[in-house]
Amino acid sequence: MTAPSGTELHDPACRRCERLAHFLDEVRRKHPTYFCAPVPSFGPMSAALMVVGLAPGMHGANASGRPFTGDWCSDLLYGTLHAFGFSSAPRSLSRDDDLQLINCRLTNAVRCLPPQNKPTPAEVRQCGTFLLREIEQLRPRVIVALGRVAHDAVLTNLQQLAPGLRRSEWVFAHGAVHRIPSAPILIDSYHPSRYNTQTGRLTPELFSDIFRQVREHVV
Ligand code: SF4
Repeated sequence: MTAPSGTELHDPACRRCERLAHFLDEVRRKHPTYFCAPVPSFGPMSAALMVVGLAPGMHGANASGRPFTGDWCSDLLYGTLHAFGFSSAPRSLSRDDDLQLINCRLTNAVRCLPPQNKPTPAEVRQCGTFLLREIEQLRPRVIVALGRVAHDAVLTNLQQLAPGLRRSEWVFAHGAVHRIPSAPILIDSYHPSRYNTQTGRLTPELFSDIFRQVREHVV
């Protein structure tokens, strides 16, 4: 694995994670109409809110090419963003629709589809270079981490911006608001995955509570 060079925010042809690149080659053969490439972040670079997910889903972002578009989590996430004024529409239909995010940017800890939705720690570190650049250039006021992997990826990268940050002091918990000195406010949420929503771990009300907290900091 090699670190991306320069200041690029995205590399549409990135193959730095060999396992993921080969997996995408395989999936592309099976689903030739799917996007099957690193999925770029979505939303304005002036956004005060950054939402960080885990990775593209097989038939969601990996198929559509837009984060959280086309799979189970899509309607809950975009519907909630719309309800709190961060999206121009409640449903994201494709990367070519006219939906716009408002003061919000969506990204993932890992930009390529991982087998079984499980990136390795090395892949999260590797793609973290892009995440760090997004955070450095965006300078968001608030980051919402969807799930523990996203939380850990954000903290790892915030260490670059806030020297002395000790990850063990900031533990993932749904609804936790981490006020880390010299860093954006980090708010944790369970990921709006099929498992979490079908088991009732994350309900629409609980998810709305997260964005109610976001609104206290992003006006
Ligand atoms: S996951 Fe990120 S670093 Fe790895 S190949 Fe994809 S875009 Fe590159």
